Amino acid sequence: MIADKIIELKQELPSGVKLVAVSKFHPVEAIIEAYMAGQRVFAESRPQELERKVKALAAYEDIKWHFIGHLQTNKLKMVLPYVSLVESVDSIHLLEAIDYWGSLNSKVTDILLECHISDEETKQGFSYKEVEALLQSSRTFSNVRIRGLMGMADFTCDENIIRRDFQRLLDINDLLYAYTGISVNLPIPEQNPEVTVSGRDRLYEISMGMSEDYPIAVEMGATMVRIGSLIFGERQY
Ligand SMILES: *Cc1c(COP(=O)(O)O)cnc(C)c1O
Repeated sequence: MIADKIIELKQELPSGVKLVAVSKFHPVEAIIEAYMAGQRVFAESRPQELERKVKALAAYEDIKWHFIGHLQTNKLKMVLPYVSLVESVDSIHLLEAIDYWGSLNSKVTDILLECHISDEETKQGFSYKEVEALLQSSRTFSNVRIRGLMGMADFTCDENIIRRDFQRLLDINDLLYAYTGISVNLPIPEQNPEVTVSGRDRLYEISMGMSEDYPIAVEMGATMVRIGSLIFGERQY
């Protein structure tokens, strides 16, 4: 049952870790069931599907929507008006486009930089070096606020590889931290007393961990986990 899963997860996750329910490919009724169990943050990965669900669920005013899929710049108007966070900003080009859209529409968009942390070739996102270059460029984006980082580990059962991937995201967090107050639109990172990773008492939002690997992500310092199939069951594509 969806409601049971939500309640279980909320009990299991430390209070400093936000649960993002990934509702992509699941019907509106499933979202309502999760909502009734207290869930408020949902994530979608396709612009059209997001827009449709936002409209269908307009009565549930306190739902917060995250976007987690690849976002093409010609689809911004289907996404940016509705979301509280775009977790999947995977290129400078997209960052610039969101900033420009914001200047035309008077909206400052909170975003996460999606980072390439796995060894898989196909995964999109910023590398450590690209984030470093962005920070060094001291460019400003007045309509974008960089709240933190998102990443996906390799699809593997090998815990060592998953840990190595998540560690890469934490290393990029340290990079952001080093540039706090110096560079692009970085808010001061939140203190998260529940995070026990050595030497890190301040983290930007670290969105890592999915149905299969979230316990490791939480142990390593995730502030947000994105969980789909564990809550809603297998997706019907
Ligand atoms: C689909 C998706 C998830 C959720 O995956 P599950 O394995 O179903 O929990 C998390 N993050 C991103 C970016 C996704 O696209």
